[in-house]
Amino acid sequence: AARRSRSQYFFERGRLIFPDGTTRVTVERDPIPTYIARGEGAYLIDVDGNRLLDLNNNFTTLIHGHGYLPVADAVADILQKGTCFSNPTEHELGLAELLVQRIPAIEHIRFVNSGTEAVMFAIKAARAFTGRSRIARAEGAYHGAYDWAEVSQSAAPASWGPEEAPTATTVYRGAPESVAEEVDVIRFNDIEGLERRVAISGSELACILIDPMPSRAGLTAPDPAFVEAISTLSRQYGFLVVADEVLNLRQGYRGASARFGLVPDLVAAGKIIGGGFPVGAVGGRKEVMEVFAGVGTRPVLPQGGTFSANPVSMVAGRVAMEALTPASFERLEEMGTHVRNGLCAAIARYEAPFSVTGSASLFRIHPKRHTPREYRQAFPTPEQNSWMTNMTSHFRSLDILLPFGAASCLSTAMTNSDLDLIVEAFGDFLET
Ligand code: PMP
Repeated sequence: AARRSRSQYFFERGRLIFPDGTTRVTVERDPIPTYIARGEGAYLIDVDGNRLLDLNNNFTTLIHGHGYLPVADAVADILQKGTCFSNPTEHELGLAELLVQRIPAIEHIRFVNSGTEAVMFAIKAARAFTGRSRIARAEGAYHGAYDWAEVSQSAAPASWGPEEAPTATTVYRGAPESVAEEVDVIRFNDIEGLERRVAISGSELACILIDPMPSRAGLTAPDPAFVEAISTLSRQYGFLVVADEVLNLRQGYRGASARFGLVPDLVAAGKIIGGGFPVGAVGGRKEVMEVFAGVGTRPVLPQGGTFSANPVSMVAGRVAMEALTPASFERLEEMGTHVRNGLCAAIARYEAPFSVTGSASLFRIHPKRHTPREYRQAFPTPEQNSWMTNMTSHFRSLDILLPFGAASCLSTAMTNSDLDLIVEAFGDFLET
């Protein structure tokens, strides 16, 4: 307890003014949150002076780790010149040009301030383009807090409904029931389920919202046949494919859809493209993005935002993204492979009932003997959940911050010895 005495003190203050003591439901507690004083590359230094290897990186945002100097320098320069204007700046061009050039599905783009907003505007754009309001999405996946996007996110088993036809459930009391009625929930990688669902309402769908490797739903890889079915059915029924790459743009130089063979009409981005500052973007086919256009006339879909395309996020994002060369992605890929292989080797050595999912710089350890392919398979039993708690605590006792029930991620700031720490900590956990 003495180890976290200052965190304890801050949390006591927080409990007086925040509903649960903090301002994000996603803040982890063991049992109280660890307050951070500063970050240094791959490490966090908490307010009690502990140094922790950070595998969370602000929910996979900080692909260069903490305090990345090129971003810090560029932002320091911007700060004295004004941080937001009602006018456009050249800085939005730099980041936009980079993304249009790299991400095959993005021909035109708009900036917003968060991944939630990016997904929201992608859905609205799909609706405005098709003139339809329904959306389809995969059970369990997290897509931010727009009402329709969050239907059946992290659904509890009691509300799942049958495997062949998952129930659409809203996530908060008082949410309009009409929201759930306008969402078709399918299971990731379930081709027949998808076919059955669109046979019923495919011609009413504006879009399918799909994260190519949904982190909260298991960080499971998409089957090529599932990806193919999405394309075929979208053409057949005239709905759009919206790729949520808010988290998974870090899958490669050209993003996640390109990596997994998905051809989206719209892409929602966020996290790494802001270089550690708040950001979101929606991009896609020119023809679809035209819904945002309107000079002198009201656009089909109005989109603004006080802080959208603010120069701080734009500059930070451009500098962070420019530093991510094809070689950086190759290195991240090798690092990820090294860690995942090391974890799998430990599982084999102890014949432990665990498995590992993920690709590129992302991984997730499951207390499951069989590698899950979708949300229900990844969902832990109460017993498995307690193993995860033990695992997270074990890592924590070795000063490694391992996200609970979500993706862990590597950064360009990590060294080979950091990677070995992860693998050793896991072997150590399995042994004890
Ligand atoms: N979509 C996905 C796949 C995400 O991982 C997240 C954030 N974890 C969001 C959307 C929402 O992004 P934000 O937190 O920036 O609103």
